[in-house]
Amino acid sequence: MPELPEVETMCRGIAPLVGRKIVAAGRLPCQRRPIAVTPGPAGWKSRVVGQKIDRIDRVGKRVVIVLSNQERIVFEPRMTGLVLMAEPPSIEHLRFHVDVSTRKEPLQLRFWDRRGLGSVRLYSAQEFESAFQSGKIGPDALAVSPAQLKECFAGCRQSIKPALLDQKRLAGVGNLYASELLFSAGVHPAIRCHRLTDKQWKAIHKTMLKVLRTAIRYEGSTLGDGTYRNALNKAGGYQNKHRVYNREGLPCPVCTTPIQRFVQTQRATFYCPNCQADALGQLEEPTSWES
Ligand SMILES: [Zn+2]
Repeated sequence: MPELPEVETMCRGIAPLVGRKIVAAGRLPCQRRPIAVTPGPAGWKSRVVGQKIDRIDRVGKRVVIVLSNQERIVFEPRMTGLVLMAEPPSIEHLRFHVDVSTRKEPLQLRFWDRRGLGSVRLYSAQEFESAFQSGKIGPDALAVSPAQLKECFAGCRQSIKPALLDQKRLAGVGNLYASELLFSAGVHPAIRCHRLTDKQWKAIHKTMLKVLRTAIRYEGSTLGDGTYRNALNKAGGYQNKHRVYNREGLPCPVCTTPIQRFVQTQRATFYCPNCQADALGQLEEPTSWES
């Protein structure tokens, strides 16, 4: 958390910055353990101040500001990072700012991060190219075709749920949306990728697009801890649409069987044992789902 829908919402929320000239950028004074910011103050001043913001991009779960000199400011929220254009949830966790000039009041983007695992990095066009080339990060979950999706997991013997979280294979899906999309696809989360049929890959592709696009429309999921906010410091709405995530013991919305929870690679997985049954006998070792 945040995953593709939340980060896409952040990108859309900072669209008012496009076309503006940057007048200041750098780390904000913060008493907490500092987050990773590169370069130092002199680099931000010489390479960023005076540049115009050409556009906002998203790379997987990162917000990317593209400057007119083709350098990129990359915000990685990781666990609790937020990209804000409004008052932050707290002052003490403000980490970084980018100020732009406007005819009226100046606009300020602020990066806020409670746990401080996020980062802000400036890349030259070339550095960006090599940092995010194929092999380092997979294709975007919203941009792959059904055939490309299957290709992302070619030769993969890991269970599908943890495999979906591997950003080197596919970018954007995280723990929450992986459980949700596999439920909608009717695919058991512990089936190993190489045992999935073409029909199941197609179902995963279709429901992945549907779940991610719907979650974007609802501006992402704000969980019980309330951390995730959109760029205007407002909660998302998709948490009310979750069908299995964090719903252990509650009835399945389709068949009323209680939702089950188990752990795969240290992450909680939620599924319906009836709707996501191992109908084709694809589970090799049903007692050891930790892959
Ligand atoms: Zn069910």
